[in-house]
Amino acid sequence: MIRVEKLNKSFGDLHVLKDIDLTVKESDVVVLVGASGSGKSTLLRCLNFLEIKNDGKIIIDGEQIETKTHDLNKIREKVGMVFQHFNLFPHKTVIENVIEAPTQVKGIKKSQAIKEGKELLDKVGLGDKYDVYPSTLSGGQKQRVAIARALAMKPDVMLFDEPTSALDPELVGEVLATMKELADEGMTMVVVTHEMGFAREVGDWVFYMHDGKIVEYGHPNELFDNPKEERTKAFLSSIL
Ligand code: ATP
Ligand code: MG
Repeated sequence: MIRVEKLNKSFGDLHVLKDIDLTVKESDVVVLVGASGSGKSTLLRCLNFLEIKNDGKIIIDGEQIETKTHDLNKIREKVGMVFQHFNLFPHKTVIENVIEAPTQVKGIKKSQAIKEGKELLDKVGLGDKYDVYPSTLSGGQKQRVAIARALAMKPDVMLFDEPTSALDPELVGEVLATMKELADEGMTMVVVTHEMGFAREVGDWVFYMHDGKIVEYGHPNELFDNPKEERTKAFLSSIL
């Protein structure tokens, strides 16, 4: 589904991603972990072409994507993204937030988009919140709206960048439960998170990044219980 080969990204003189290789197969849940500044967000943003790589290959559905030859908006429709801060439109209601991209970007009829949007809001447990404004929602509810909004574009892959780290602890569970449900339905996902319980339970693979490189990856139990690299051991003992 996604293959990354020797991906490199710099911001000026700062070399942030160094020869990243990553494969995400259909229905895989890939969890990225690593210290602050190790390049996790930059890697996700490259996968969604919010940042443009300097070097290397990004292959999506068998097709090598180049910024010159591909319509990046089309690619972004395939690759949904959910951020730490939900970035909902404050002056739009919940359902208006959800239908914005399908109607404006994809040209879906408003009545159809509303019907599908309501189904998605039901799915994330917000069936009674279509018509309220985001300011009246809790952080966990806002994040579930953000997930519904990303799903409204019917992406093939969902990227999550620390979706629960801005939430009060008691609200984390409901968002993780929504993500687990998506994973159980077979959604392909790449998730940056510090929630190691989620990584263990839902992740198919965990990749540990340090200083712009993938140091080690494996199945969650393997990586968490039996890390091979000293760096990984040090990182895990600092967070677990
Ligand atoms: P965190 O856990 O704190 O979110 P991260 O692993 O997501 O960290 P990135 O946000 O990818 O790390 O940042 C990696 C490095 O790239 C950092 O040194 C950061 O300062 C730098 N960086 C990120 N975005 C930019 C930018 N737009 N311009 C310049 N430097 C950037
Ligand atoms: Mg980050």
